[in-house]
Amino acid sequence: MKQLPLILALFFAALSLQAQTSGNYTIVIHGGAGTILKKNMSPEKEVSYRAKLNEALHVGDSILKNGGTCLDAVEQVIHVMEDSPLFNAGKGAVFTHDGHNELDASIMHGANLNAGAVAGVRDIRNPISAARMVMEKSAHVMLSGKGASQFAKEQNLNIVDPSYFYTQKRWESLKKLQDKRRKPTQSDKHGTVGCVVLDSYGNLAAGTSTGGMTNKKYGRIGDSPVIGAGTYANNKTCAVSCTGHGEYFIRLAVARDISAQMEYLNQNVKTSCQDEINKLTSLNGTGGVIAVDKKGNVAMEFNTAGMYRGYIKSNGETYIGIYGE
Ligand code: ASP
Repeated sequence: MKQLPLILALFFAALSLQAQTSGNYTIVIHGGAGTILKKNMSPEKEVSYRAKLNEALHVGDSILKNGGTCLDAVEQVIHVMEDSPLFNAGKGAVFTHDGHNELDASIMHGANLNAGAVAGVRDIRNPISAARMVMEKSAHVMLSGKGASQFAKEQNLNIVDPSYFYTQKRWESLKKLQDKRRKPTQSDKHGTVGCVVLDSYGNLAAGTSTGGMTNKKYGRIGDSPVIGAGTYANNKTCAVSCTGHGEYFIRLAVARDISAQMEYLNQNVKTSCQDEINKLTSLNGTGGVIAVDKKGNVAMEFNTAGMYRGYIKSNGETYIGIYGE
C-alpha cells in the first residue's frame, strides 16, 4: 500500500498524456486532377491507381496510429506517390521543353507556420524530403535548382542520376505536346501529388510535390512549391494542397485564400474550397484542391472531369475516388 501514491501519480500522468492526444486523425491525398474519364481508363490502370492511393493512405495511417506526427505522415505518404511512375511527381515527373525533369515540392506545418520548398531540382529522388529539410535545417523557405541540390546533398538526402526520372510514358507526352499534328490530353500536360493531415495532437500539415507541366520552358515554376498558392497549413483553420494549372493557382493564392475565408468569414472548409474552385473557374483555370480542417472535416473539390483522391480516418473510414460524382 506504500506504493499507492506512486500508482496514483502514474495513473494521473497517463490520463493527462491521453488528454493531449485525441487519438483522432485524418489523412487526405490527391494524385492530380484532369480529364480523367472512365471511358479512357483500362480496368488494369484503374486498379493500379486505386492500389497506389490505398497504399499511400495506409502508410500514413500506420504512422499516425503509432503516435507519429502530421509532418512524418505527409512526408512518407508523398514518398509512396513520388516513387510511383503513375503520378507526375518524383519518378513519374513530366519533361520540360528541353527534355529534362525539373521537380518542385513544398511542405508546411500549421502549428507554427513553418514552411519549406524546393523548385526546379533535377536530381533529388524525393523532393518533399528536401522541402522538409529546408524548413527544418535552413534559415530559408525556398531553395531552387543547383543550390537546392547542393543543400540536399549536404543533408544526406537521396541524390539520383537525372536519368532516374525518365519514363517512356512521360517522354511520349512531351512528344505529343510538341507535335502539332497530335492531340495531347490534359493528363499529358500535368498532374501532381499532395497530402494534408490532421494528427492526433491536433496539428495540421500540408505537402505537395510535382514535376510541373509538360513542355514547360525557361525554368518555369508552378504553384506547388509556392507557399500560399499550392500548399498552406494553419492550425487555426485548415491544411490545403492543390493541383491544376499552376499559373491560376498562384494568381489566386488558392491555398491561403481557402484558409483566409475560413478565418475571416467563419466559413466551413467545404464551402471555402467550393468558393475557391468557383473563382478558378471564372478565370478559366482548371484543377482541384484537398483540405482538412482542425476537426478532421474533409474537402476534395475540382472543376475537371476527375481527380485521383482519397482519405482515411482514425475510425477506419476510407474513401478512394477518381472520377467526378
Ligand atoms: N500545379 C502543377 C503546376 O502547375 C501541376 C499540376 O498540379 O497538375 O506545376
